[in-house]
Amino acid sequence: MLEARGVSVSYGAAPALWDIDLEVSTGELVCVVGPNGAGKTTLINAIAGLHRVRSGSIRYQGEDITHLPPHRFCDKGIALVPEGRRLFTQMSVLDNLELGSYIGRAKKLRRQSLEHVLTLFPALNAKLHHLAGSLSGGQQQMVAIGRGLMARPGLLLLDEPSLGLSPLVVHTMFEAIRQINQEGTSILLVEQNVSMAMALAERAYVVEEGRIVTHGAASELLRSPAIRRAYLGLDDEPGTSPAAPIVTPASEI
Ligand code: ATP
Repeated sequence: MLEARGVSVSYGAAPALWDIDLEVSTGELVCVVGPNGAGKTTLINAIAGLHRVRSGSIRYQGEDITHLPPHRFCDKGIALVPEGRRLFTQMSVLDNLELGSYIGRAKKLRRQSLEHVLTLFPALNAKLHHLAGSLSGGQQQMVAIGRGLMARPGLLLLDEPSLGLSPLVVHTMFEAIRQINQEGTSILLVEQNVSMAMALAERAYVVEEGRIVTHGAASELLRSPAIRRAYLGLDDEPGTSPAAPIVTPASEI
């Protein structure tokens, strides 16, 4: 479905990504993990058309989208939920959601899409006419993901959806991401929360200093001693990590 080959990106003269090969197949949930400043946001933004690709190519459903203007991505079926949510805080939740469905097919399906988002995130029902900026961090992240879903994407690009959220809220957010994927949307997830991202994803790419240093089945990478030491701070054997947190119902966030 998505295929990046040999992608390099620079900020001016400063290279940020080198020779990235990455794939997401139809229906897959794939994560990209790595330390601060590794290039994860640059990578997901390049896939969303927000950075000029210096060399290499990006194809989506067989079509070369490497140099497609950013505003065309939505219509192609690719939606980005950016790091930091980027909501219009002085607009209502409903207006923010509807902004996700302004063009093409998504506009015709707006009512069904809104129902779907409110089923996924019932806490937003009572907040539709509140200013987005008045919501809790978890609720704002729901609006950001909801706005992405309003575009009816085939591929959802999620940049750090756990950023700034408490562990219990993160767990609930990840359950929603799992559900979105199970309903048929392919997902590329960028995360610093390595253990949760890898527990959710089928495959993972590890980025360091602008390069993919390893990739493979997330369950296997999670068992790798190098990954456990570098990213999870664990020297123990797999399977001895602390138990998963208790889930907070989405309605209570
Ligand atoms: P984080 O988890 O902190 O967001 P990241 O893995 O997403 O990190 P990026 O934000 O993609 O990393 O940054 C990759 C590299 O590019 C870093 O060295 C960063 O300093 C640099 N960089 C990011 N944005 C810019 C910019 N607008 N101009 C110049 N350099 C930038």
